[in-house]
Amino acid sequence: MGGRGAEFRPDRQKGVLDEIGHKKKDVTYFIDYGDINKESRSKMQNNLTNKLEDNKIILGSSVDNMESSVREMTVIQVNDLAEKYSRIIHGYLNDENLMLRSYAMDRVSIKSGKRSPEYQTGALFSSNTNEICLNLRTNTSLSQIRETIKANQARGDLVQTDIRNVEKHIVTHEFGHFIENCLIEKRLQQDIKKYKEYKEAKNNGEWSKFLSIQESKAREIVNEIWSIAQDKYHETNVKNFYPSKYSKTDAFEWFAEMFAETNLHTTNKTCVRAMQEFLDKEGEI
Ligand SMILES: [Zn+2]
Repeated sequence: MGGRGAEFRPDRQKGVLDEIGHKKKDVTYFIDYGDINKESRSKMQNNLTNKLEDNKIILGSSVDNMESSVREMTVIQVNDLAEKYSRIIHGYLNDENLMLRSYAMDRVSIKSGKRSPEYQTGALFSSNTNEICLNLRTNTSLSQIRETIKANQARGDLVQTDIRNVEKHIVTHEFGHFIENCLIEKRLQQDIKKYKEYKEAKNNGEWSKFLSIQESKAREIVNEIWSIAQDKYHETNVKNFYPSKYSKTDAFEWFAEMFAETNLHTTNKTCVRAMQEFLDKEGEI
């Protein structure tokens, strides 16, 4: 990084995006889908779920299989976030709901690279079906979730949270993917030709084309937030832009991790403030 005296600022295009990887397109998920295609609505038909449905959030019947305190925490957090970001959700998605599901996932295998590491995932967000899937095998109790997240935070792998918010990390991170999906959809709608291409790729199951269109918009969003951090909050150190090691995976994980930190951590960090400002601005449009 070369200095340019008091005026020095890192190159906003180069500095940030060089560190962030590209979306891996060859990840294999070992999921026990069970009767997922026949999934009906959850039995949790109460005031909370009615409110959720107003916010376009649908609970699948697989959610009934979750441990009750984990389910309660998850549904309340989804509801709170849906309320908080309702302007983004209502403004950007015309006809799609967010589906919350919970089924057994054994492991995730990344095939790219020399080795083929496998790990247990806590949850997934599927951008083509617009659903958050929580892993029944890993989300077994609140104390177990806290332990896993704390260990990841201690290694710097996941973002820091306030102590009372530790167990909310997984669902908040996944909700961040959903919010970004809404933002991407809205941006693509500005360019009818591109939007048509995107929808066709989705309908025809051309996932690598679908992902690459999505990723170009996700990287645009990263740059916008970095610009706010630099211009408004005078951030000059690119290292401060990455809230966790996991956020360097790709532009989508960066957004989800920053979204989690913004919602779960009381901090004055420049990039959290920039993210907050970005989300406020997007909600006003
Ligand atoms: Zn993620």
